[in-house]
Amino acid sequence: MAWCPECGAEYESAVAACPRCRVVLVAEPPPGPRALEPEVVHRVPDAAAGALLCGVLEQHGIRAVLRSATLPGFASVRRDWATSAWGEILVTRAEAADARAAIADYLGALERGGQVRDEDVEG
Ligand SMILES: [Zn+2]
Repeated sequence: MAWCPECGAEYESAVAACPRCRVVLVAEPPPGPRALEPEVVHRVPDAAAGALLCGVLEQHGIRAVLRSATLPGFASVRRDWATSAWGEILVTRAEAADARAAIADYLGALERGGQVRDEDVEG
């Protein structure tokens, strides 16, 4: 068997590279659940946009977590002063590329449809 060092997927030894990550497979399984580490794929300006995009990801079979940058009980206080967005969407490393593509597709479709203004969803 062979393993993808990026997403940890297992393949038959005849397969040379992971088609999703486009990296050469290795003979040993990658150490630890690196593929399951959370990764920020998008920042959102408010809770509504976050919930909307999480729903889009779930439609793609991607489990997403919406994390607010605001402190509980202090809605106007930023936990991270470097973050201008309200919060961020996290998925596992293994699904990060798919999640970014799904969000880009969705936002692109909205722009073409003219239903959402640029300021509604930050990039
Ligand atoms: Zn991979």
